[in-house]
Amino acid sequence: MSEPVLVSTWHHGRGANEAGWPHLVSRSALDAVEEAVRTAEADPEVRSVGRGGYPDRLGRVTLDAVVMDHDYRCGAVAALEGFLHAVSVAREVMERTDHVLLAGAGAADFARSIGMQPERLLTAETMRLFEEKVRVRETAPANIENHDTIVSLGCDAQGRLAGACSTSGLMNRLHGRVGDSPIVGAGLYVDGEVGAAGATGHGELALRVAASALVIERMRGGLAVAAACESVIEHIRRRLRPGPDRQLALLAIDRDGRCGAAALLPGFSYALTRAGVHEMVEVDA
Ligand code: ASP
Repeated sequence: MSEPVLVSTWHHGRGANEAGWPHLVSRSALDAVEEAVRTAEADPEVRSVGRGGYPDRLGRVTLDAVVMDHDYRCGAVAALEGFLHAVSVAREVMERTDHVLLAGAGAADFARSIGMQPERLLTAETMRLFEEKVRVRETAPANIENHDTIVSLGCDAQGRLAGACSTSGLMNRLHGRVGDSPIVGAGLYVDGEVGAAGATGHGELALRVAASALVIERMRGGLAVAAACESVIEHIRRRLRPGPDRQLALLAIDRDGRCGAAALLPGFSYALTRAGVHEMVEVDA
């Protein structure tokens, strides 16, 4: 038996955990992380996930998501347009197909074929913010203010682990850009014998070092959860030399329900729920 735990990135992780926790208790870690992520996707105030997600430079909202469970089962979608719950489409890719990742029009065709309802995602408020903040500085790099990807990681009472992640990707991205979030090993990785890890921030940094898988490998090698996250952040700092405005945060849990995180820059926080008690954890950089 393990101590059940649910963690979710950023301040909106709090509402996500409140929605996901009952599923962790009564169902499974996989159901809990999916429900947590769906909550952020449905919230129009969350600016880089689901309904409130920023469009790319062509004004198109494209979503990336992934789920992964205890036994290396995984499913993902990239550049999905017109469907709110990218995480649930990703889960159906896992449950119903032999594939791991569907992209673009093929992902939307799949969602339609299994009866998911298409909907328009770009809200008037998001469009207004987009006009104001993005078009006027089209070449500006993405920065710390616009990372909101939701990553949820859970361990249920049976000691089964699962993770899910969903994003519209960085503000100001080129059309067609896919970040770390739907890529197994970069934005999310789960190994039922070790733990679960996920990334948020400048996705290219996570992609280049397969950051989430690297955290798990360092935990497998004996590092504690927080130390594993810190060592991968240090590796990124030393080998990739990210610019001073580049944020990347890593969050992980192990199969005993211990959790930890690390980030390149200050400002990262996550929601932690144990025994039904929700709290926010601010991470030093
Ligand atoms: N990691 C995401 C991406 O690069 C962005 C984010 O975390 O907000 O697409």
